[in-house]
Amino acid sequence: MMRYVIVGYGIAGVSAVREIKHQDPEGRVVVITPEPLPPYYRPLITLLIHSPETPIELDEEDAGAEFFTDRAVALRPEEKVVVLASGRKVHYDRLLIATGGVPYIPPVEDLPSQGVFTIRNREDALAIGRYSERCKSAAVIGGGLVGIKTAEALQKRGLEVNVVETMEEILHGRLDKKGTGIIRHRLEEMGIKIYTTQTVNRVITREGAPRELILSSGKRIEADMIVIATGIRASIEWMSDSGIKVSRGIVVDEYMRTTIEDIYAAGDVVEFPDLLTGSSLVSGLWINALQMGRVAGSNMAGGSSRYPGALSVMNAAEIVDIPFISAGIIEPSNGLELIERQRPAYRRFIFEDDVLRGIVFLENVERAGLYINLIRSGRRLGRLKEKAIEGVLSYADLWGQDSRH
Ligand SMILES: Cc1cc2nc3c(=O)[nH]c(=O)nc-3n(C[C@H](O)[C@H](O)[C@H](O)COP(=O)(O)OP(=O)(O)OC[C@H]3O[C@@H](n4cnc5c(N)ncnc54)[C@H](O)[C@@H]3O)c2cc1C
Repeated sequence: MMRYVIVGYGIAGVSAVREIKHQDPEGRVVVITPEPLPPYYRPLITLLIHSPETPIELDEEDAGAEFFTDRAVALRPEEKVVVLASGRKVHYDRLLIATGGVPYIPPVEDLPSQGVFTIRNREDALAIGRYSERCKSAAVIGGGLVGIKTAEALQKRGLEVNVVETMEEILHGRLDKKGTGIIRHRLEEMGIKIYTTQTVNRVITREGAPRELILSSGKRIEADMIVIATGIRASIEWMSDSGIKVSRGIVVDEYMRTTIEDIYAAGDVVEFPDLLTGSSLVSGLWINALQMGRVAGSNMAGGSSRYPGALSVMNAAEIVDIPFISAGIIEPSNGLELIERQRPAYRRFIFEDDVLRGIVFLENVERAGLYINLIRSGRRLGRLKEKAIEGVLSYADLWGQDSRH
């Protein structure tokens, strides 16, 4: 009987286990996870900051696996063994590394030990919510998706919230300028203050907790607590002596195999070429982690699934009650055509001739899945291009006739 070991039970680990159990119901699956069960929908954890009872658990029927609540601290491929923090050694026939990402903390002078948080796990969000009860103001360092979701949650909790972002705009790389502008305006209307092209030079503390931040412009902002949301690093330190090839993340092939036999990796822990640009990336996106996990699980159980590659821009989120979806190339470069529509809601399309390369949909995200499939497939649209732009394209249009001419 095959013994599968899964390290990390985020969405990549969860979807791998589902796939293994589907293909090899007799196989023995061991999951190593430091987080309490059940697994949950990580993109929703910021809701726990203001509403700790929000149900965010993944609908996970009995996974049919054995769970060790522990953390992997070393990997010895020559013995086919994972070493856990408790000292236990777990043998595998096939191993999946799905340890996700860890928050990156930039160097900031005088960061106090109290009142400073990062946000990755459910427990982090709950701790931020509890601490915020004693605070009037907060600073979120980093205006990406995680930072903005956190700012929104803290504002809902009644705090005065400041966001400090080094780039020219918040949500950098997630949305185009116009889309970002619409969301920024809504955030500012709610009272969230946003400081772009600024860094934090110093933190002024009182009794070991934050009090004020001094920004690179010299501006001083009040903050009784700080949340750092400046991106993630692949969580690979624990296996750094294993001999597996890593760069920014674990290097895998399209079958999600690492450079060592019988060891697979999936999710935020791997780096993978972008489907459109070919440049390597650590995806940081839920849907990519889910798909990679599925491919890895299938291949571990004897299949031969291929992961076609990630779209580095591939977001489906809702911020300040504005749902948005962006995918593929969102800023046109040489040879690409930009088409925008303002009504009934803001939509932007990037075309290369009649091939769709990217979209941004704000407020009305209807049929976005169909457009994302088009981007992935690279299909020529011919005369259906106009229908696509007007939002009246259907699956029947695409599958019912040959649109190449
Ligand atoms: C606040 C927030 C908001 C987000 N919003 C969005 C969004 O709107 N859209 C989107 O696409 N994505 C979003 N993301 C990103 C998304 O959640 C991740 O891309 C996704 O969860 C990655 O899944 P994963 O399984 O690769 O890793 P993870 O979900 O990080 O799971 C990895 C698991 O491995 C465990 N682990 C780590 N080290 C070890 C070890 N040594 N031994 C054992 N276990 C270990 C971790 O504790 C964790 O449980 C958001 C993330 C956060 C934090």
